[in-house]
Formats: sequence, structure tokens, C-alpha cells
Amino acid sequence: MSAEVAILGGGIVGCSIAWHLANRDAGARITVIERDPSYQRAATPLGNGGIRQLFSLPENIGMAQYGLDFYANFAEELAIDGVPTPIGFCRQGYLFLSDNGGAEQMQRNHRFQIEHGVNAQLLDGPALQARFPSVSADGVAIAVYSPDDAWIDPYAALQGLRASAQSLGVQFVTAEITGWEHDAVAARSVQLSDGQSIKADTFVNACGAWAAEVGAMVGLHLPIEPMSRESYFFRCNKKLEPLPFLKAETDWAIRPEGDGYVGGLPNWQETAGWNFELSQTWFEEMVWPALARRIPAMEEIKLERSWRGHYARNSLDYTAIIGPWVGGLENVYLANGFSGHGIMHAPATGRAIAELVLTGGFETLDLTRFGYQRVIDNAPYRETGIV
Ligand SMILES: Cc1cc2nc3c(=O)[nH]c(=O)nc-3n(C[C@H](O)[C@H](O)[C@H](O)COP(=O)(O)OP(=O)(O)OC[C@H]3O[C@@H](n4cnc5c(N)ncnc54)[C@H](O)[C@@H]3O)c2cc1C
Repeated sequence: MSAEVAILGGGIVGCSIAWHLANRDAGARITVIERDPSYQRAATPLGNGGIRQLFSLPENIGMAQYGLDFYANFAEELAIDGVPTPIGFCRQGYLFLSDNGGAEQMQRNHRFQIEHGVNAQLLDGPALQARFPSVSADGVAIAVYSPDDAWIDPYAALQGLRASAQSLGVQFVTAEITGWEHDAVAARSVQLSDGQSIKADTFVNACGAWAAEVGAMVGLHLPIEPMSRESYFFRCNKKLEPLPFLKAETDWAIRPEGDGYVGGLPNWQETAGWNFELSQTWFEEMVWPALARRIPAMEEIKLERSWRGHYARNSLDYTAIIGPWVGGLENVYLANGFSGHGIMHAPATGRAIAELVLTGGFETLDLTRFGYQRVIDNAPYRETGIV
């Protein structure tokens, strides 16, 4: 088997890269290699689907802005044979709460966001209370509300991208990548668990939290590790006003989902590594009290479901790595290390990799500072404030 571009990993990032390449270059031979089309352990279906512009790095803001546009128009623009592809796009905003001493940073970030075209509003305690009566302003120094932000159903978006890419001629191969063949200059093929191999002119590593493992097979060092995150779906006995996606400096995050809520609170004591085992105590002892303090009506909630997914965490700086494998094989590209942002940043990553592969440079948003060079230089490029 051979392709012009082989994309390793068919999660939302790999599918977006395939879609953007195929959409731009009709007739290109693009193959996505994904071992599990049910995506049981992939991060994408286990994520919360939030899309927000509340960042401090201009690249992250610009990527999220493209993501918002892309997902807002997804149902119609990625329609297949005229049948729309709904992805549950819900523009109900984001609300950041400064409840742990980071108010000055949040205000600086807010000014920066405004300069970058984000319609974000600074709320003091009374304004927060007036806008969202169920949210207690007690202990909140400042809040930032971004009404244009949104969320989606990430599994629907993944399947929609995959189906649309297929309709544009992208081929999906179900197999595990087990090795690479290469010479001194370039990668030549990847080997698969079924004994076959796929030759290609260009390869893209989009293996999510497995990116370091797949990279290591060809001598590529990626500082990326799986970081387990527990999530919950719960219902609240009292009916609240429509809430945005709430994120606090004290680390909990929730958003409405149907007639309930999804979200969680990371346990920073956990070390990196694969862990799908649910905690017996974390929700009751830590998450619930934190929610009830901030939203008193959440004293009365019913936990209905818990699950675990994994961030692909870049231990250098928690920022994505996008671009060519600088200093390595010349035809290998990286789209890795998205932590909790890969759903919102998948569209811009797909667009960026398509630009690099087809033209040799960034045409829309310059993502040079997200490149692999900073890994070589050990020079972190980090978000400030809530990540
Ligand atoms: C609890 C939680 C909440 C989150 N909330 C948000 C949010 O609100 N907003 C947001 O933008 N992001 C969020 N994220 C992050 C987001 O889910 C991820 O960043 C994103 O899904 C990453 O996509 P991906 O395609 O890189 O990885 P994945 O979806 O993990 O896909 C990688 C694919 O590579 C395949 N693969 C790996 N190794 C091999 C191999 N050897 N051979 C073949 N195939 C292979 C895997 O099977 C997998 O399907 C959240 C994540 C979690 C865990």
C-alpha cells in the first residue's frame, strides 16, 4: 500500500488533518491509520468538547477562533450528499472564575484577549451575581465571561470529520502501527500489526497520548505523556439558569449537557501514565463540595456516570507541538501534545499541517513558536492563568 500522505492516528486531530488536506487538494492520496475505529480509549470521545478563546498565547486564541468558525458551520459545510452533520454546537459561552489569587493575571489576559478580537467581559462580584444568579460570588475576585464561546459533541464531530474525509477520497486503514522504515534522510514506510506496510511521501504523527510511543519507534523524542482525567455526568435537583462552561482557578470545570452537567476536578497527586480505574472517593470528597461551594443549588445532585480519558500532556510546557520534525527525518510532521485543548484546536491544526505539507509554510496563522525547535532548545512556551 502507498500514499502521498500517511496520517498516523485517526482521532479528531488526525481526521481534521486528513479532511483539510483532502478538501484543499482533491485527488491527493491520503491514508489514515487508526487501530480502533470504535475509539474506545482515544481522548476525543472522552473529552468535554469545550471551545474557548480565553487563552494567553496568541496562537491558542487564533486556533480557537478558527475552531469556533469551523464547528459553527460544520453541520452544513461537512454535509454528505446534502445531509447535514449535526455536532451539537452550543454557543453558551465560557466563564472563568478567579477564586485562587490569580485576578491580576486574569485581568492581564483579558486585556490581551480583547486586543486579539475576543468579545470577553470582565465581571466583578455583583455583575457576576446579576448575570448568573446561581453562581456564588463569594471569594471570587474577578470573572471573565466570553459569550461567543461554545461546546460540541466531540464524538459526533470526530465521526463527521471521518465520514466527510472518506467522502473526499481519504482512505482509512484499521491496523496498529508497530514500526517504521527509514533511511538517513526520510521515513519510507510504517509497518502494521497485520504484517503489511504503508509507504508514503509524508508522514504525520497524530497519535494523541500514544505519540511518544509511536515516535520512539523511529527515534523521535517527544516529551508527551498520558495524564488520566476523571469526568462525571450528574443531574441537579434544582433547575438553574442556562450556564456557560465554567472553569475556576481552583481547577474544577463543568458545563451543561442535556438536562445535566459534565465536568470534573483533576487530582494533581496522580502521576502521569495510563489509568482507567475510577476513584471511589474523589467525586464525593472533592468534586461535589467544590461545586456546592460555588453553586449552592448543587448541594443536591445525583452522580450518574463517571469515566476516565487521558490528556496528551507535553511535560515541557503543556503547549501543543505542531510542525516538521526539525533535526530529524525531513518528511515527518508532528501534531501532538494538546492536553485539554485538542478538540477546539483540531480544525486549526488540520489547516496548519495541510499548509505545511502542500506549500512548505504557514499561510494563515503562524505557528512557528509551536514547533519542535523549542523541544530541542528546552525552551518552554507556556500559557498563563487557567489552562
Ligand atoms: C476529560 C477530558 C476533557 C477534555 N476536554 C476538552 C475540552 O473541553 N476541549 C478540548 O478542546 N479538548 C478537551 N480535551 C482534550 C481532547 O479530548 C484531546 O486533546 C483530543 O481529543 C486529542 O485528539 P487526538 O486526535 O490527538 O487524540 P485521540 O483522540 O486520542 O486519537 C489518537 C488516536 O491514535 C490512535 N493510535 C495511537 N497509537 C496508535 C498506533 N500505534 N497505531 C494505530 N493507531 C494508534 C489511537 O487509537 C487514537 O484513536 C479533553 C480531554 C479529556 C481526557
